[in-house]
Amino acid sequence: MTMIGNNIQEIRARLARACAAAGRGTGEVALLAVSKTFGLESVYAAAEAGQRAFGENYIQEAVDKMAAVQAMPPLPAPALQWHCIGPIQSNKTRLVAEHFDWAHTVDRLKIAQRLSDQRPAHLPPLMVCIQVNVDGGDTKSGVAPAEAVALAQAVAQLPRLRLRGVMSIPDPAPDFEAQCAVHRRARAVFDAIATAGGPGLEYFDTLSLGMTGDLEAAVHAGSTLVRVGSGIFGARSYGAAAG
Ligand SMILES: *Cc1c(COP(=O)(O)O)cnc(C)c1O
Repeated sequence: MTMIGNNIQEIRARLARACAAAGRGTGEVALLAVSKTFGLESVYAAAEAGQRAFGENYIQEAVDKMAAVQAMPPLPAPALQWHCIGPIQSNKTRLVAEHFDWAHTVDRLKIAQRLSDQRPAHLPPLMVCIQVNVDGGDTKSGVAPAEAVALAQAVAQLPRLRLRGVMSIPDPAPDFEAQCAVHRRARAVFDAIATAGGPGLEYFDTLSLGMTGDLEAAVHAGSTLVRVGSGIFGARSYGAAAG
C-alpha cells in the first residue's frame, strides 16, 4: 500500500473514533481529500485506496488535474467527484460551473447567480454550500451569520444549483474546546437555515466543517463532511501552486 493509502486508512480510523466519541455513526461523516498543490499521482494513489471525493482550491490547477485524470486508465466506478473549496471570483464562475460537482464557497448571490446561469444543461445541478464567516472581520470570506438565512433562501431557488449546506473555515483554535466553540457557531447557522426552510431547501443536509487539525471537534459539533489535506497527502509546498 502507498503512503497515501496508509494515511487514508489512518484518517478513516480517526474519523471513526471521533464519531464514536460523539455518539454518532461512522457513516454520518464523509471524507473529502483536499488535493490542492498535489499532482495527478497523488490523486490517483488516493483513488486507488478507494477515495472518490476530492477538494481543490485553485480552479485552473484543478481543471488541469481533472483533464490529466481523464487521460489515465479508467478507475472503477463510482466516478471521482470534485469539490471547489477555494474562493470563487466572478471571472472563474464559468470554469467552476462547467467542471466541478460541488462548490462550497458561495458567499454572495451574484456568484451563485452566475454559477446557475453557467451550469451546462447536460450536467446535473451544481451542489453548493453557503460559506459562513464565523470568526473573522469584514476582510474574511464568507457571509455574516446574520445574513446567512436570507442568502441561503435566495440561492436555494436558483434553477441550476442545489443548496446542500453550510461550510466554514475558522482560524486555527488552540484546543478542542475552543475548536468546538467556533464550529458550533457554524452549526447554529446550519440549524437556523434548516429551521427557516423555504423552496429548494429540501436537499439541505451538509455541514462542511473540519480539517486535519480539528476534525474531532468538527465531528463533535455536527460536521457531515471533513476536508482533510495534509493528513492524507503530507505537507504542502506552495511554490508550485497556481493562483
Ligand atoms: C487546504 C484546505 C483544507 C485542508 O487543510 P489541512 O489542514 O491540510 O487538512 C480544508 N479546507 C480548506 C478550505 C482548505 O483550503
